Amino acid sequence: MNVRELEGKVALVTGGSRGIGFAVCHALAEAGARVAVVDLDGDGAAQAAAALPGEGHRGYACDVAGAEGVQATVAAVESDLGPVDVLVNNAGITRDNILVRMTDKEFDEVIATNLKGSFNFTRAVSRGMMKRRGGAILNVASVVGLTGNAGQANYAASKAGLVGLTKSVAKELASRGVRCNAVAPGFVRTAMTAKLTEAQVEALQGAIPMGALAEPEDIADAVRFLVGPAARYITGQVLAVDGGMVM
Ligand code: NAP
Repeated sequence: MNVRELEGKVALVTGGSRGIGFAVCHALAEAGARVAVVDLDGDGAAQAAAALPGEGHRGYACDVAGAEGVQATVAAVESDLGPVDVLVNNAGITRDNILVRMTDKEFDEVIATNLKGSFNFTRAVSRGMMKRRGGAILNVASVVGLTGNAGQANYAASKAGLVGLTKSVAKELASRGVRCNAVAPGFVRTAMTAKLTEAQVEALQGAIPMGALAEPEDIADAVRFLVGPAARYITGQVLAVDGGMVM
């Protein structure tokens, strides 16, 4: 693979200041892209941008769930860095609960961030990508969107929704040279999984054929491939990056 295959490109990554999002920002910066790090916390986004290799990265504060703020953020990124060539919809939250105790708020917040947030950014960048006849959109889904998970009806529904969004966007935009794919990570060592007890981690590891949790970089490498020129003929796909959990 060309080591600077995204040279001259602009990549926007949501939820980019930590976890999988930061690893994605790092991988895309190493590939030569100028990265717009978007996060709820503007200071965190700016610090993350400053920590990336290479020049020209910037941080932006934005709640992905708010359509107006998303439009304004894309406009700011395009004015500062140039048109967005690569969008990675990574921002995501959990509000786990068993179904009968799950509140409307817990359900709605997860759908608003994980699913509507990805729709908001995808819609905001698509017109420009279509006009320029090129672009790559990548949604960070989850294996639980493919399998379901007790205690995560809201989260699994949001991630299954992302699979439908990915395939629909891929079909709509393919003729304009815009690709849309998803990754479905298994369990990854980030703040999201740091809440798990030792016993839960051990049980999980037993259920993963490769016997270990993923590191954020494992997901970032798959994202880098899917948004880059080596995947130019791949669209509408969901790539599980999960140590063999879903086959
Ligand atoms: P994380 O460490 O909790 O990081 C999530 C990032 O998203 C944080 O930077 C957070 O900002 C940001 N964010 C949350 N809500 C936002 C909003 N409304 N607008 C903008 N940014 C927002 O999570 P992670 O583990 O890296 O997960 C990243 C993605 O991978 C998520 O979509 C998650 O569902 C998915 N995933 C994770 C795993 C796993 O095992 N970790 C497995 C499968 C899929 P703040 O720092 O300001 O809160």
